Amino acid sequence: MKLKIAVLAGDGIGPEVTAAATRLLQAVAERGGHTFEFAEHAIGGAAIRQHGTPLPAATLDCALDSDAVLLGAVGGNEWNSLAPDKRPEAGLLQLRQALGGFANLRPAIAYPELAANSPLRPEVTREVDILFVRELLGGLYFGTPRAWNKQAGEAHNTMRYSTNEVARIAHVAFQEARRRRRKVTSVDKANVLEVSQLWRATVTEVAAEYPDVKLEHQYIDACAMHLMNTPRNFDVVLAENLFGDILSDECAVITGSLGMLPSATIGGKVNLYEPVHGSAPDIAGTGKANPMGAILTAAMLLRYSAGLEAEARSVEQAVGQVLAAGHRTADLVRDEATESVTTQQMAALVFDAYSALVEREHSLHAV
Ligand code: NAD
Repeated sequence: MKLKIAVLAGDGIGPEVTAAATRLLQAVAERGGHTFEFAEHAIGGAAIRQHGTPLPAATLDCALDSDAVLLGAVGGNEWNSLAPDKRPEAGLLQLRQALGGFANLRPAIAYPELAANSPLRPEVTREVDILFVRELLGGLYFGTPRAWNKQAGEAHNTMRYSTNEVARIAHVAFQEARRRRRKVTSVDKANVLEVSQLWRATVTEVAAEYPDVKLEHQYIDACAMHLMNTPRNFDVVLAENLFGDILSDECAVITGSLGMLPSATIGGKVNLYEPVHGSAPDIAGTGKANPMGAILTAAMLLRYSAGLEAEARSVEQAVGQVLAAGHRTADLVRDEATESVTTQQMAALVFDAYSALVEREHSLHAV
């Protein structure tokens, strides 16, 4: 198979972690006889420096002309004094809008080896594997009217959803649940909000097309509590934009480090893959960045844009093996006795573990 991947490394630790992800993708392509073409372009602060704008036309054109976009992170102190629409982050927001993805997928997986990194008790996080499916283009963040009338001392936003917008994200959640443990928890505030009543009615209607998937509804406030008390009970969590934003960040505590979290935004013209973390200017260039979030993001790209499920699983398995062997980047170190590895060393360890897994697979088939 042939895949054109736009690589937008961005700022801070973006280039460091993206290099780890592309190196692994290259290895997957070579070992599987696939052709992945990587086209690197500037975005964010790096693009402001080179081209005077956070999203140059060449970057956007390349992204729209690709099969997938792999992004690092944007932003940094150097650009903090710019107006919001001129800052690096504005480039990312414009890119997301142009690509048009409406479904943001964010896994929250508790690796047993990192149990001590979570503030939750190990018996609570054990075997937790949740996939958040967050609606990304609607709801309170985009609804109109919206305004802050400073003279009147009043401000308002609008949470607005159409049946079609809810139905299309619900389909994504049910389809994802079919690849997993076949349960969807839909989150709303239907006891108070009309928009949530529409959400609940629509999700219930869509659920009728997936009789093999169990649907439960939870109010956002109760869900926030259950996620911390009994996270193992969740499989796919389906939420509108604001609720999904809050709940998926809440669940970052389960994995123990921001550096471990991948994400994919699908459903638009081109899928966008980016680790959840930002550009981490405080550790940029020090070799302390954890590349696992970017590597797991590459695994999502293999799954959703390349259709290479087995390879995606092997990458995820390689990450688990490296953690099980005790290797830790600085953010994952919890005691003085553990020595940390650098970004590049961690990337090489995952690369070696992946290669060994593939070799073993090949020799099994050869027998
Ligand atoms: P951040 O995610 O960059 O960093 C938060 C903390 O987590 C820092 O202490 C950082 O060192 C640590 N961290 C983050 N990723 C890590 C990794 N892979 N390995 C080890 N440690 C890691 O968030 P912030 O500090 O609030 O923002 C820094 C800049 O990034 C800002 O300019 C912000 O606007 C931008 N940002 C960009 C994105 C994006 O590009 N998607 C997302 C969030 C923030």
